[in-house]
Amino acid sequence: MSRLVVVSNRVGIPDGKARAGGLEVAIRPAFKQRGGVWFGWSGKIAECEPGEAETTERENVTYVTIDLKKDDYEEFYNGFANRVLWPILHYRLDLAEFTRRDLGGYLRVNEFFASNLEKILRPDDVIWVHDYHLMPLAKALRDRGHKNRIGFFIHVPFPPAEIITALPNHEQLIPALSHYNLVGFQTETDATNFSRYLTTERGLSRLDANSFAFDEGDLRVGVFPVGVETEPFQRMARRAAESAFVEEVKASLSGRAMIIGVDRLDYSKGIPERMDAFERLLTNFPKWHNKVTYLQITPRSRADIQEYAAIARQVGEKVGNINGAYGEASWTPVRYINKAHSRTALAGLYRGARVGLVTPLRDGMNLVAKEYVAAQDPDNPGVLVLSRFAGAAREMTSALLVNPYDSEGVAIAIDRALAMPLAERKQRHAENYRVMLQHDLSQWAKQFLATLEQPAHSEPAATPRPLRAAG
Ligand code: UDP
Repeated sequence: MSRLVVVSNRVGIPDGKARAGGLEVAIRPAFKQRGGVWFGWSGKIAECEPGEAETTERENVTYVTIDLKKDDYEEFYNGFANRVLWPILHYRLDLAEFTRRDLGGYLRVNEFFASNLEKILRPDDVIWVHDYHLMPLAKALRDRGHKNRIGFFIHVPFPPAEIITALPNHEQLIPALSHYNLVGFQTETDATNFSRYLTTERGLSRLDANSFAFDEGDLRVGVFPVGVETEPFQRMARRAAESAFVEEVKASLSGRAMIIGVDRLDYSKGIPERMDAFERLLTNFPKWHNKVTYLQITPRSRADIQEYAAIARQVGEKVGNINGAYGEASWTPVRYINKAHSRTALAGLYRGARVGLVTPLRDGMNLVAKEYVAAQDPDNPGVLVLSRFAGAAREMTSALLVNPYDSEGVAIAIDRALAMPLAERKQRHAENYRVMLQHDLSQWAKQFLATLEQPAHSEPAATPRPLRAAG
């Protein structure tokens, strides 16, 4: 079997620290079966010229990391990746701040990744590149003569051509994805949007429903929804629910029902809108006063970017206003916490929460939604209130699906979730849980890699859902 080389912007070297972010959680099990190399940025800024790559061996994985220069970090990471691609891919053209300088930095860092990666590459390595930071990496490797099978998985949404064409230089960036042998998406909508871009904007012709003819080879497109390790997560939640930490949190609720939200502090997660919805609940359904506590765990991210500082202020203000207006000496309606928690602690808290509130304005998948379902006690499960704009909504169709922009509608859904009879809770949970077992994370990497390693023109190995012909 070929060696697996995973490339992502950040590399998850195990260090026992709690970190928020779905990408690392999704990738790690890929190494379980075959080991391999995980290559990427160390997270460190080099004082002067970055030195050689650093190598760390842990179990069956070799972690190879490189530092970035300050300019690279600013232009590539804070600049083009997070100020341009992230908002555009999340349908937020209003927040994109494009500069040619940042685009230059983005392309330069992709070249820098390629020139360091090629030092460790073997001709038969299978390379799996992750996420929007590294869209041009395959092209940079092909330009250096590498003929390896290279796959790309984009964890975030891929918007329709009408939005993506607002990205200056999209003609250079998006077609660069054609240098991958396989490009994987979270949902059929994302894959269809990409396929439509290729046919309408680039005039590429289809070889079959999932493949396109391209100058130097074939490009296959597939749908591989990221899941969680459902049964192990369920077991972890059962144990964690009895931990001293979770027992203490539960005791502090004094019998009130808990609503839980867990998100990185990011405008795509719809946290201010969710606060509005919770406020609506308290206004329109006063029967819940002093009966519910909403715990929102929100580790800060990308603090160097202005929009993130703005949203931090906005959320803090809304929480203060709700607690000020509705709180009592013995009841704080919203507990708002910026500290990251371990996934074990989260699993126990999810299990203790009557409602999981997951209302992003746009999300590639949203693992928290799936973790919440996996963590529930099947005999007395809580209810997931889920944004229809999260990729997870395609699978979790037995959740209460909501429009996060409609705070009144979300408040009605929370009320319904809090009051839902046990029989309906059990039925909805069982349906969602069954779907999760079908798309378990243990299968995700296997299916992606099996499809990537197949010769072109054969049927995809186990693409979970074949891509419908795009319009
Ligand atoms: N997470 C965590 N600690 C925290 C907050 C979040 O470990 O304090 C984890 C969470 O359990 C989930 C991931 O971070 O596995 C978040 O993934 P998701 O897809 O929901 O969102 P992303 O942050 O990747 O946009």
